[in-house]
Amino acid sequence: MRIVLLGPPGAGKGTQARRLSESTGMKHLSTGDMLRGEVASGSELGLLAKEFMDRGDLVPDPNVISMIRNHIGDPSGVLLDGFPRTLIQAMALDTELKFANVPIDRVIHLSVDIDELVKRLSGRALCGDCQTPYNLESDPPSKTGICDRCGGPVAVRNDDKPEAVANRMKVYQELTAPVLDYYRSHGNVAEIVATGSPDEVFEKLSQAIRSGKSGVMAN
Ligand SMILES: [Zn+2]
Repeated sequence: MRIVLLGPPGAGKGTQARRLSESTGMKHLSTGDMLRGEVASGSELGLLAKEFMDRGDLVPDPNVISMIRNHIGDPSGVLLDGFPRTLIQAMALDTELKFANVPIDRVIHLSVDIDELVKRLSGRALCGDCQTPYNLESDPPSKTGICDRCGGPVAVRNDDKPEAVANRMKVYQELTAPVLDYYRSHGNVAEIVATGSPDEVFEKLSQAIRSGKSGVMAN
């Protein structure tokens, strides 16, 4: 099964994808996590990516596409989080999937009000080691700056700082909103209003995927 999770920065894609991956065994492909891994390792791609990400800009299409190419045919199924972010990436994904002979089963759009998002992002922090997300206001780690799960350092990412957040929203509207229109024209998008607790959103998400399964079988 191939699922694409779309939604603006801060809509909860990472949190939900992680849970979904745990409950279904599907592989969670987060281009954000993969790129941050490259940055941490100091690879050539990482050095290039850091520049773009720190500003809240998107890493160039060819770099992201080649990074994800080897993983999308994974037999356990994949959950794409943060990809595709541009129309070019969406079309490249279609080509790759056609080549691997696996369709996209469901595109899920997590929609949230922009003001709400800016509020959410402003408190967001992440473990640098295991990537567990926290919110410094509503869900902080029990010891300041230290991950509950692995003891790693919890910090606000450069791209969650205010100027970068404003730019990420602008980039989302300009580049990623057309991806949503592209998938809508294929008629395979499940709309989820991603307000409420992570549990509530997860329940809606699971329902959308279950109904998507039967829809695909009927096709
Ligand atoms: Zn951790």
